[in-house]
Amino acid sequence: MNERPEVSNAPLRQMIRTRLAAGSLFPVDGKVCAGKGTGQRCIVCGMPIFATEIEHEVTEPQRAYAHMTCHSLWVQESKILGESRATSPFSDTPGVFHIVRPDRRSFQPTRTVFSVSFGGHKDGVGTIELGKPKGFDALTALLQKLSVPPSEIEIACQVLTAEPHHEIPNAILTRGIFRTLGW
Ligand SMILES: [Zn+2]
Repeated sequence: MNERPEVSNAPLRQMIRTRLAAGSLFPVDGKVCAGKGTGQRCIVCGMPIFATEIEHEVTEPQRAYAHMTCHSLWVQESKILGESRATSPFSDTPGVFHIVRPDRRSFQPTRTVFSVSFGGHKDGVGTIELGKPKGFDALTALLQKLSVPPSEIEIACQVLTAEPHHEIPNAILTRGIFRTLGW
């Protein structure tokens, strides 16, 4: 198997992105001291950094240690987060995902087209259309790309079976998410 690194690192990258957005991991700028592992715990993946591995030591804004690979993703994601903060409305400010089923009369789980958009809490302010998935499978795939938790996706599908409109609160839209959507 010839696994591409960006594929195998995807779950770690997603975890870093979520933690940065949630504030449980601070952003870094890439300044680092590299050396042999000293058994410190990696702040990113939580595993110890063994002497056979390269340890990256961060001192700003606080001291922390990370594996070389973990640190490199951490720097990349910090940069993406910085870009997303600088270009509103792709910010880390939570908003709402609106899912609308425009055709109220007929509903078919595989054929109905949904309209998914992101907006702030004020109606109509900065609402962005994210896609028009056809059927629940496509809707689920889109919501997964938007980092919506599986439990919320399940609720959304249940609600939309009965109702023409559903809102998912605490939605976060970053430039990184836009990148995964191919924008
Ligand atoms: Zn690590």
